[in-house]
Amino acid sequence: MPVSIENILLKEDFSHADLVLLLNAQGQDKTKLYTRSAEVKKQFVGNKVYFRGLVELSNICSKNCLYCGIRAGNTKPDRYMVTEEEVLEAAQFALENGYGSMVLQSGERCDGQFVDTVSNLLQKIKELSGGKLGITLSLGEQTEKTYREWYANGAHRYLIRIETSDRELYYKIHPNNKKHDFDIRINALTLLRDIGYNVGSGVMIGLPFQTIEHLANDLLFLKQLDVDMVGMGPFIEHEDTPLYEFKDLLWPKKERFDVSLKMVALLRIMMKDINIAATTAMQAIDKQGREKALKVGANIIMPNLTPVKYREDYLLYEDKPCLDEDASECRNCLEARIHMAGDEIGFNEWGDSKHFTKRTISTKE
Ligand code: SAM
Ligand code: SF4
Repeated sequence: MPVSIENILLKEDFSHADLVLLLNAQGQDKTKLYTRSAEVKKQFVGNKVYFRGLVELSNICSKNCLYCGIRAGNTKPDRYMVTEEEVLEAAQFALENGYGSMVLQSGERCDGQFVDTVSNLLQKIKELSGGKLGITLSLGEQTEKTYREWYANGAHRYLIRIETSDRELYYKIHPNNKKHDFDIRINALTLLRDIGYNVGSGVMIGLPFQTIEHLANDLLFLKQLDVDMVGMGPFIEHEDTPLYEFKDLLWPKKERFDVSLKMVALLRIMMKDINIAATTAMQAIDKQGREKALKVGANIIMPNLTPVKYREDYLLYEDKPCLDEDASECRNCLEARIHMAGDEIGFNEWGDSKHFTKRTISTKE
């Protein structure tokens, strides 16, 4: 007897086979998946979307991930570091516009000067906002000492995408050396959790050599890691990277987008109370990509507050959107889009993951 999608969707836990089937869902089955994920979102996290004002601090990176446009080996971008004044202007904008939080993201650097600069920025943002702005970091793998220092200076969420949970695939998209070590990347998440951070991770979807079976495993892996936040989105090729060589193996962009939406919907059903971002890469493929992601389960948006003059040099992939929109244009366009998706904005709130809050309370009891 054929298995009904309704019955699978009502299960407490999905098996790998269930996930493969759901990731392949089309037509009415796909609609049923999205209806269920929207219900779960409404019931467990509500219809509030939280803003994280994103500053892409620097495109200087010591790593060479084979997919990324700002990898050390790409000589084309002009390398930059946003000034302290510019970061504080962005923080002021976030504060005045009711964004509850900021994200500081950057290429990976572990030298003392960078660590000190970030610590100083964290203190200044906290000072300027009287502690009102929550701060997420996405600054790659660091030493435990650095994670602790930044936590002590006010960062309380940290994002490190595992990119793929499959070791073999990981080494097809990264150089196989100590600087790009699969185990270190995964262990970083445990370390961050022990220090007290809200921990976020995620994967790219539609990588060359990646299969639906890999993606089903990624979902199970994120669940097993018990992450508090997830940012995942389509892989988009960049012509100045080594992976570009395999562009003919890629699924069409529309399909990468479609599978990304299903990944968001499935993760919402599997991890009901976590925060899930509607990522910029989704908007790069489909103009309404972020709204579509909100509809099927995402609840976080990261408006770009990076000064416009730097954006051309933070091109992780081709067709990155909003390169010339300043923060206020971006704000107006986003608000309209969120309302169109049927959600409202959680102004002036940190909007921490309910999953994190619950776990912390139950550990204290
Ligand atoms: N350097 C830090 C790190 O790697 O964790 C943070 C910044 S990095 C640019 C943030 C994320 O961008 C990566 O985790 C990766 O998933 C994503 N990214 C990089 N290149 C991409 C591409 N070509 N397509 C889609 N996402 C990409
Ligand atoms: Fe550097 Fe992050 Fe890009 Fe890898 S993904 S090259 S670590 S910026």
